[in-house]
Amino acid sequence: MDGGRAADSAGRRSLLLLRVSHLLPHHPQVRLAEDQPCTGRRGHRRPADGLGGPRHSAVGHPSPGSRRRTLVRQAEEHWEDDVRRFHRMFRHSTDTELVVLVGNHDIGFHYEMDWFKLQRFEKVFNASSTRIVTKKGVNFLLVNSVALHGDGCPICQSVEKELIKLSRDLNCSLQNSQSGSRVMDSCEGSQLYPPTPPIMLQHYPLFRVSDAGCTGQDAAPPEDRHLLFREKYDVLSKEASQRLLQWFKPRLILSGHTHSGCEVLHDNKYPEISVPSFSWRNRNNPSFILASVSPGSYALSKCFLPEESTVIGVYCSAGACLLLLLLAHCLWMKGLLQCLSLCLLGKHKSL
Ligand SMILES: [Zn+2]
Repeated sequence: MDGGRAADSAGRRSLLLLRVSHLLPHHPQVRLAEDQPCTGRRGHRRPADGLGGPRHSAVGHPSPGSRRRTLVRQAEEHWEDDVRRFHRMFRHSTDTELVVLVGNHDIGFHYEMDWFKLQRFEKVFNASSTRIVTKKGVNFLLVNSVALHGDGCPICQSVEKELIKLSRDLNCSLQNSQSGSRVMDSCEGSQLYPPTPPIMLQHYPLFRVSDAGCTGQDAAPPEDRHLLFREKYDVLSKEASQRLLQWFKPRLILSGHTHSGCEVLHDNKYPEISVPSFSWRNRNNPSFILASVSPGSYALSKCFLPEESTVIGVYCSAGACLLLLLLAHCLWMKGLLQCLSLCLLGKHKSL
């Protein structure tokens, strides 16, 4: 998501919504014997490196410690490559703010997620994975939806605790504005935000059975629309979805993950838009959304990139034309040379 600079006459700020995480390849996650995904103490834990063990086993094969070190180093190199590529692709001027939302391609699926990967992501993008970003009176709630399995794992507990705090803060801000700046006893110590329901941004969509009701140019192909989604893998669980809606009552939800576009209305009042993949790797017609948002309204427009098949067609046609031109040029040169040699031969004979 990119907070642009434009503001229209209604005072709405423009921002660009991109599905970023599926741009990056999902490298096979390095799983170490000592790794306890989504468990353990909080702290900047690095995977165990096996220091102190023998470098090679007696028969000359790399020891488990050495193999582990190689895997860890390769994973780190992959991660640094991805970060470099991301910054190259989304380079921007200094007066534009880039806000990044965590997804399963950044920290793995729930079973792969651990503190090390989460904190590595937070360190690179200098922000907590679950937070509120407020711009010009608009609250954007960014949710780490990978940690909403509700299984009580330490990262899930930490994210839920943060969400409960943010929900309290937002509700207190609303109550505070309605009660004329009189802080209620139950809201003491809460952080105040502009008193408007948030726009919720998360990688996984809220629970829906399938994409059967989705239409539009970038909806899932008809043959895939009736495939049932798996809770906690394709979409959030029913419980987590209901909890988020009850806690935050968002005025708009923007999500990704499914690679296809879709518009859903939850409980007849909470609209959700799944932003399709912004990558030719996942679809022929990637797109992004330009959103103009003010504290009381929003307007969205979808912008399509050129279709991959069109670009390939243009390159192939241009290549074929160049080849024909080259052939014609060669034939013309050959003819010219033949003509010149005949002329020279004629002159020679006449002498
Ligand atoms: Zn995803």
